[in-house]
Amino acid sequence: MNLILLGAPGAGKGTQATKIADRYGLVHISTGDIFRANIKNGTKIGLLAKSYIDKGELVPDEVTCEIVKDRLTWEDCKKGYLLDGFPRNTFQADYLDKCAKIDAVVNINIDFSLLMDRLCGRRVCKECGESYHVSTLGGKTDCARCGGELYQRKDDNPETVKSRLDVYEAQTAPLIDYYTKKGLILNFTGTEAPAEVLFEEIKAKLDELK
Ligand code: ADP
Ligand code: ZN
Repeated sequence: MNLILLGAPGAGKGTQATKIADRYGLVHISTGDIFRANIKNGTKIGLLAKSYIDKGELVPDEVTCEIVKDRLTWEDCKKGYLLDGFPRNTFQADYLDKCAKIDAVVNINIDFSLLMDRLCGRRVCKECGESYHVSTLGGKTDCARCGGELYQRKDDNPETVKSRLDVYEAQTAPLIDYYTKKGLILNFTGTEAPAEVLFEEIKAKLDELK
């Protein structure tokens, strides 16, 4: 099963992605994670990506598409994969069309007014990627799941978040229509309820597909 996970920044894609990939034995491919790993390792791609990510803009399509195309040729993708954060515009979606066969698109809709606070208060585990909100951490700085150190992503600040949300609305939201027309979309509503609740709904729909 090959899936796409669609949703605004802060909609909870990362958390659902881990759960979905675990449950269905899929490779979790997050373009954001790939870029952050490249930045950490100081690669050429990382250097380039950083200049866009810090501003909340999309990394150019040529670079992003090439990375994904290459990643999809790895042996592990044969068992199925979950694309998280790709495609993010219609150019990338058209490109993907030519190198992949997608079975469904999981779309998480969420009230935009929640996102600024969610993202600016988000803290992420350096080790396992789990995310938390400062309001529930009570001053703790380590991950409840693995003990790893929590950090704040550099692009989780008001100015960059504003531009990420603008980019989402202008470039990524049209993909909902795009995949609806292809008959691939599965719609869900992200709320403030625990992630498990949303995951149960997603699981019910994906179980039907299998
Ligand atoms: P979020 O969904 O919270 O914005 P991601 O980790 O998916 O976080 O992406 C972080 C940043 O990485 C984006 O703001 C963008 O700059 C870059 N990025 C990730 N995926 C793509 C993509 N498919 N195309 C272009 N840029 C991307
Ligand atoms: Zn952790």
